Amino acid sequence: MVIGAESFKAAVWSKQALEGLLKDNIAPTPKNYAVYYEYASGKTPNLNAAYDKITGQGKLTQQYVDELYYKFIGADDQRESLKEADKAIENGVNKVLSLIEASVKETGEFGENLNSFTGKIKTARSIDVLREAVKKISEDAQRVVAQNQKLQKDLEYTSAELVAVRDEFDRVHHEAQIDALTEIGNRKFFDREIVRTISEACEQKTALVLLMVDIDHFKKFNDLHGHLVGDQVLRLVARTLVENLKGRDVIARYGGEEFVIILPETQLDNAERVANHLRNGLATKKVTKRGTNETLGIVTVSIGAAEYIFGEDKEVLISRADKAMYEAKQTGRNRVVCAIKE
Ligand code: GH3
Ligand code: MG
Ligand code: MG
Repeated sequence: MVIGAESFKAAVWSKQALEGLLKDNIAPTPKNYAVYYEYASGKTPNLNAAYDKITGQGKLTQQYVDELYYKFIGADDQRESLKEADKAIENGVNKVLSLIEASVKETGEFGENLNSFTGKIKTARSIDVLREAVKKISEDAQRVVAQNQKLQKDLEYTSAELVAVRDEFDRVHHEAQIDALTEIGNRKFFDREIVRTISEACEQKTALVLLMVDIDHFKKFNDLHGHLVGDQVLRLVARTLVENLKGRDVIARYGGEEFVIILPETQLDNAERVANHLRNGLATKKVTKRGTNETLGIVTVSIGAAEYIFGEDKEVLISRADKAMYEAKQTGRNRVVCAIKE
């Protein structure tokens, strides 16, 4: 394989990131690593400026690294720096393997030396030759013992580090699927769940319905009350939807003010009932301004529902639910429209 300039640069950045972590005594977790890697690559100038500002005034602490991560890297797990963190873990595993290999080789050589030592004793003609051979073999023996102790320590350390890094990495992966504002799954989470639930529905030959939920006139709401109140409404809608769903149902924020809900083991007529229940759950809630308790009115949603047709691509299902939602908008909003099967 020819190593291109990009992967060479990536290797340099990776090394710089690890050295930086070591120098600042910051734990080599994927998140921390990502911050240092991003800095080394210089691909996020704002991160570098903030980093330089902090280090200009003192040492980088874990708290600062966290801040840099959340501010400049956040939930974007497609970042090269996070992919590199994954690679760093793999390298850690390879390191353990090569430590073991080195030790096996060392012990092997010692065995050979021991054999030739036995031979030398048998044929030694002078006490000097014998003394030299004993000196050599005891040095070798000491080296093997020391090597094994070191190996033991290195292995313990590296394994513990790897477990910690792996756990942290899983957590970051999980975090990357949560929408920070509403704290429900995000688009990435939905993309994964729709594949999983469709394949389950196909295997078990059960019905599945997708609901596309869009807040009505949300732009007006934002314009009238401001973006922060708008954000509060998005959280309220997410919470109300979650409250009215069952355990196996899947909900995610699809984009701006749109939500998607997967209802496994549910047929269209039942799904329509669920959708109306969700819609009513919202329409009967008064939105109040935090702090002043001023009533801001009610929030309604339009919902499109589509039942999965076995064999169709998930994109087709999504598009049918989307069209049904659009029709709900066209025909007056605050209502549910079901996509006709076929
Ligand atoms: P419709 O009933 O046709 O859906 O009208 P609408 O105003 O809800 O739809 P439109 O697509 O015109 O506008 C959606 C608005 O949602 C625009 C944008 O300002 C707002 N929005 C999207 N994401 C966020 C967010 O994270 N926070 C806030 N506060 N507003 C958002
Ligand atoms: Mg919309
Ligand atoms: Mg809308």
